Amino acid sequence: MKFRPSYRMSELVQSEIRNMSVECDKVSGINLSQGICDLPLPEILQDGIKEATRLGYNSYTRCDGIQYLREQIAKKALEYNHIKCDPDRNIVVSCGATGALYCTCYALFNPGDEIILFEPFYGYHEYTLVSLNLKPVYVKLIHESWKIDFDCLESAINPNTRAILISNPVNPCGKVFSIEELNKIGTLCEKYNLFLLSDEIYEYIVFDGKKHVSPASLPVLKDRTVTISGYSKTYSITGWRIGYSIAGGQLSELIGEVNDLFYVCAPSPAQYAVAKAIENLQDRFYMEICNSYKEKRDLLCDTLSRCGLYPFIPEGAYYILADVSVLPGKDSKEKCIYLLDETGIGTVPGDAFYSGSSGKDVLRFCFARDISVIQKACSLIIENSFKWGY
Ligand code: GLN
Repeated sequence: MKFRPSYRMSELVQSEIRNMSVECDKVSGINLSQGICDLPLPEILQDGIKEATRLGYNSYTRCDGIQYLREQIAKKALEYNHIKCDPDRNIVVSCGATGALYCTCYALFNPGDEIILFEPFYGYHEYTLVSLNLKPVYVKLIHESWKIDFDCLESAINPNTRAILISNPVNPCGKVFSIEELNKIGTLCEKYNLFLLSDEIYEYIVFDGKKHVSPASLPVLKDRTVTISGYSKTYSITGWRIGYSIAGGQLSELIGEVNDLFYVCAPSPAQYAVAKAIENLQDRFYMEICNSYKEKRDLLCDTLSRCGLYPFIPEGAYYILADVSVLPGKDSKEKCIYLLDETGIGTVPGDAFYSGSSGKDVLRFCFARDISVIQKACSLIIENSFKWGY
C-alpha cells in the first residue's frame, strides 16, 4: 500500500550508532560502534529473572514501577548520588534512560521550546527533542579539554530556553562534570529559571580518581533537576530496558502518566531482578566495573595513539573520541567506512555527535566489550596501520 509518512518523520534520521552496527554486522566485523555492552551478567541478575517469573512478576506493574525497585533506587540515590527522594512520589521506572528522558520531555515542554545541549552530544538526546518539536540549541565544549565556555553558554539562553540537557559522564567524549561547573550551571539555571535534565547512565564508570557528582545533590540545582539514569550500563543489561527518572512530586506524577501511555510499565521480571541486584551487590562490584573498563580504555587508547588515531582520553563512560585526520575520506563517515573495510572494526562517525562539521575528522570507539574482543581489535588496528602510514 502506498502511504505518506507523518510530517514528523521528515525531521528524523536513523541513528548512525545503529547504522554502523548494521554495516559492521554485514562484514562480520568487530562492533565498537554501538554501546552494546555484551559483558557477562552478575549471577544475581540471572537468578533474579528466574525467581521473578516464579514469584509472579509477569504482568503489568504500577506505571511508575514496583515498590521494591523504587525503594532500592531511593536508597541508592541517597547513598551514591546524595539525592534524597521519596520512592512513592519522586521516582518513575521507565523503559531505559531513553524512555525516562522521553517521558520527561513530553511532560515538560511545548513545541518551539529551546533546550541547550553541549556539543559533542548524544544523538538520541538530540532526536528526542526534535521528535517533540523542541529546538536543540548547541553549545560547544572547548575542543579536547571539553571545558565549558560559560559566556557562550549564557549567550545561548533566551526567553524560549526551558532547560539544559547534559549527560554526565558525557557520551561521547567521556567528560565528567566537576562540582564547580555544575554549581555555575546551577547559578545560570536559577537566574533564567531553567530545568537541568541530567542523564547519568554512566554514573558508575569514572576513571583516574574522578568523582561522579549528581547535580540534584547540589542545593542550587536540587529543585530544578530531573535526574535520569538506569541499569543498562552498570549491570550490562542494555536490552532489559530498566531506567528511571527522579523529579519533584508534581512533575514525577506527570512523567508517570506519560510512561503509562507510552510503555504501560518497564518489563516486570527485569524490575524485580534489578531491585535484587541493587539490594545485594556490594561496593566491590562497582569498583571492579571501573577497574575493568579502565584497563580496556588504556589498552585501546595506547593502541590508537601508536597508530596515529589520536585519542582524547575519556574521564568516564565507555567511549573514546579519536582524531583520525590521518585516515583517507572527506568526512567522518568515509573515514569510518574506510576503517571498517581495512580493519574490520566498526566505529561511529564523529559527525553524528556534532551539529556542524567539527566531527568530520573524529570517530567514536566503544570499549564496552570483553577484553579479548578489545585485544583482537587492537591487533587488527596495529596490523593494518601501515595502510595509513603508521
Ligand atoms: N548508548 C549507546 C551508544 O551510544 C547505545 C544507543 C542505542 O543503541 N540506543 O552507543
